[in-house]
Amino acid sequence: MLSEKLHTALNEQMNFEFYSAHAYMAMAAYCTDQDYDGFANFFLVQAEEERFHAMKFYNFLSDMGYRATIQGFESPGNHFESILDAFKTALSHEKEVTRRIYNLSDIALDEREHATMAFLKWFIDEQVEEESTFDTLIRKIERIESDSNAVFMLDAELAARTFTPDAEA
Ligand code: MG
Repeated sequence: MLSEKLHTALNEQMNFEFYSAHAYMAMAAYCTDQDYDGFANFFLVQAEEERFHAMKFYNFLSDMGYRATIQGFESPGNHFESILDAFKTALSHEKEVTRRIYNLSDIALDEREHATMAFLKWFIDEQVEEESTFDTLIRKIERIESDSNAVFMLDAELAARTFTPDAEA
């Protein structure tokens, strides 16, 4: 049995993960438009990951005896100055996700809701990975920004990214 507060917060996070997929689709579309198909692929895979995150919340709510409520959301940003700007926007988005996951964990901890705390542990670990991935790519792009050959090489590298959900999911 989840409290109304916790159940609502979990549902909100599910919707925010769906929104994250949307935000990454906008970044993918920008990269496609710039003919950077590898960067676009990176963001398309990221969007798939976000839908997978949302479905974890959907399934957890269901397992706990609640129905997920699907909500609409504002349009994500569609304007980017550069590839670097898209990645910086992505990192700040992930920092916001981390803030929200921590807030959710605080509620679960306050209520001593151990099942939810165990469920959220995966997301706490995942956010360390997400922030690190974007941080590393930003530093790489900053280093090679003025070297178009190097940018194309990174684009080719990111074209190889595929969606691989973890085995226990
Ligand atoms: Mg996510």
